[in-house]
Amino acid sequence: MAYAYDPENIFARILRGEIPCDKVLESEHSLAFRDIAPQAPTHVLVIPKGPYVCFDHFANEASDAEIVDFTRTIGKVCAQEGVSPDADGGGYRMISNCGRDGVQDVPHLHVHVIGGKVLGRMLPGTKDHD
Ligand code: 5GP
Repeated sequence: MAYAYDPENIFARILRGEIPCDKVLESEHSLAFRDIAPQAPTHVLVIPKGPYVCFDHFANEASDAEIVDFTRTIGKVCAQEGVSPDADGGGYRMISNCGRDGVQDVPHLHVHVIGGKVLGRMLPGTKDHD
């Protein structure tokens, strides 16, 4: 599978410093910043610094170091944003939209970390919590 990465996508431009972002944290291989149109009180985008289009591209071709760093960065974002589940509630959702059917707008891998309120069921048409 050949993945075609567009280096002019908006997140590549953020990584190059051509466009500002509201940074949450940065590591050797990853960057986390606030979504420009937040869907919940916490809405952070976590991206690898490498040129990966989507999650399967990253999972298949990134180095172990990049994958560990990306995963740990998501964990640190959850801690920093205070959304980790605990006895009082909390919790969050991670979403990574991929490709046409996943309705991905920006073709650079990103995981949305969304929380700070009860989010409802995952997909439209499924039953909510009672
Ligand atoms: P997708 O639909 O690709 O999963 O999500 C792309 C996300 O990127 C959207 O939630 C959108 O609000 C966000 N976004 C698009 N352009 C920018 C930008 O320039 N800066 C930031 N911080 N977020 C952006």
